[in-house]
Amino acid sequence: MLPFDDETAESFVARLVLANGFHSLAEFCDFTGTRQGGIIAMDRDELDAVVRWSGVSEARLQAFAIRRDGIVAFGAAQVKRTQLRATHRRYCPHCFSDDIRNGTGYPRTRIYMRATWRLSVISRCSRHGVPLVDLPEDFDTLDLKALTDINVKYAVASGALPHDRYFSERLLEPPATSYLDTLPLYVAAELCAVLGGLHHFAAEGKISDRVPGGMTNPECLASGYAIAAEGREAVWDFLTSYIVKMVGKASKYPMVYSLPLRWLRDEVPGGDYGSIRELFQDHAEKHLPLEQGETFLTVVSRRRVHTVYSAAKEYGLPEARVRDVVINQAGGKAVIAVFGSRSVVFRKDEAHALLIDAASQLTTTQAAERLGCAMTQMEALLNEGYLPFSTNGEAMGRVYRWVSADEVQRFQDRVEARLSPTPTEHDLVPVLDATKICHRAFVEIIALILSGQLAHVQMSRPEFRLDKIMVNPTEIDELSGSGFGGEFLDRARR
Ligand SMILES: [Zn+2]
Repeated sequence: MLPFDDETAESFVARLVLANGFHSLAEFCDFTGTRQGGIIAMDRDELDAVVRWSGVSEARLQAFAIRRDGIVAFGAAQVKRTQLRATHRRYCPHCFSDDIRNGTGYPRTRIYMRATWRLSVISRCSRHGVPLVDLPEDFDTLDLKALTDINVKYAVASGALPHDRYFSERLLEPPATSYLDTLPLYVAAELCAVLGGLHHFAAEGKISDRVPGGMTNPECLASGYAIAAEGREAVWDFLTSYIVKMVGKASKYPMVYSLPLRWLRDEVPGGDYGSIRELFQDHAEKHLPLEQGETFLTVVSRRRVHTVYSAAKEYGLPEARVRDVVINQAGGKAVIAVFGSRSVVFRKDEAHALLIDAASQLTTTQAAERLGCAMTQMEALLNEGYLPFSTNGEAMGRVYRWVSADEVQRFQDRVEARLSPTPTEHDLVPVLDATKICHRAFVEIIALILSGQLAHVQMSRPEFRLDKIMVNPTEIDELSGSGFGGEFLDRARR
């Protein structure tokens, strides 16, 4: 007698002893002094004995033995001991029915326990698609054919679910080349459960640090497998859509990932979880506002994502200005998520140049303050082209004008260069008084100063203020007679 390809060691020995006239494996163990636990785990003594009795190779007997602890080989895959059911009670009635129909001899020697039924992430038969059911307590005394006939009637075979079929294949065949195949089965299964958990959170609008219903929840495994089976890029895209939807619901931004954080934080970087840790670390750094030196799974080497608040601090801008730049000027291409009425999470690199630029821009009010004049004079300087300006996006509702701080400084330097180096004996008056005395607009007098036509220009106090410039009205009036600045006169008359 030989074990089936997908049969556990325990099942094979049970069939072996039944075929030899024992009623059950337990009875056999009592009679021979063998430990049933040793048969399940294929410990040394029991392995030697079973090899002797059956002639089956050690390797085959050990393939689906349930080893004691940690990460164990199980068929073609690596699984966690905790992912294997300790007792051998789940079965598929259709598989049993097939065994009875196709086999010969005493029924209990023909039915056998599939190794796949032991893997807790498999909830349905990978061949018949029906939920696996528990053997009744009095299984040994029941009419097996009647039992399976009844169960078959109530569990109509349907197509097996993709994730059950996949996990089952991983036990029986060497891994292929898909993204999930690159991971040990136990990690792949946990990844499916975690992705399914995140999928569930997004649907419910609630975040938790645990997979609802645990790591073997069939619904989470199914939805997570549907994502992961499409490959790493599909996983990445799903995570991005999850962040976009859920980042505003987390108490602190990294907590949107409390489930993967709790899952992965104690795993070593280079181990079986290594590539998954890297995936989540990379995705978090690129989608969550983590600052340099902050720890996610590992330490963040540089900030890649800002909030309006963190960017306002870094660039020294008001939050409303940051929002305007990111949403209107950058055309939203840097935006990861907008939530609530105000919060924006965005990619730093794509908004950086615009924010640096914005930080060097002054509002017209700030520019007026810096140059020491009222808004009336500021408006005139802007309208006459003395100071170039930009405007914000029209989507803001209200249009603001911005003046570069450099331009303001350059303008100030040009005026200062025309100030007379030594005090003059002439009677000077404040520039605003001169506008009235000479019937000249403010910008006209500024133009005369900048073009160097006024010999006597002074500042009435040490610090620079346009409204503290002193000029000589006589000098200005004389210029009108000489034809210089005639264009301004023409304009003043209009
Ligand atoms: Zn089945």
